[in-house]
Amino acid sequence: MTTNRTFTMLKPDAIENGYMGKILDMIIQAGFQIKAMKYTKLTTEQARKFYEVHAERPFYGELVEYMTSGPIVAAILEKENAVADFRALIGATDPAEAGDGTIRQYYAESKGRNAVHGSDSDENAEIEGRFHFSANEII
Ligand code: UDP
Ligand code: MG
Repeated sequence: MTTNRTFTMLKPDAIENGYMGKILDMIIQAGFQIKAMKYTKLTTEQARKFYEVHAERPFYGELVEYMTSGPIVAAILEKENAVADFRALIGATDPAEAGDGTIRQYYAESKGRNAVHGSDSDENAEIEGRFHFSANEII
């Protein structure tokens, strides 16, 4: 089943570098509707849990530290084919490999500090959206 929804975070580097408005504008101009959004800061426990699948990877500790280093914007987005279209809009994990016109090509600093998160499946979009938002916060 496709839900037409995805989940995103504008990561601490994007906020710190002043790109919050520019990135949100790219997302809106690409046709995504905002179904829920909050400006918040992850606790260490939240970041560890969110990135649990990467717990055994060498970059996990650094990733958790980075994701808790400053505020983020979390949002649920809606569009036809949302998960795949949003991954296309953000580009590859490493900005050096991100395609022309992608958010990561414009705004990411590095493979680690890469400006934005996008869910990788409908199932994870649902799980990640619920992780950050209760039902009454979603429009
Ligand atoms: N990451 C990292 N080093 C790596 C791979 C990933 O620091 O070699 C970080 C990076 O912030 C990335 C996140 O871990 O966005 C999750 O990794 P994933 O492979 O899921 O990439 P994404 O789905 O975000 O493109
Ligand atoms: Mg991923």
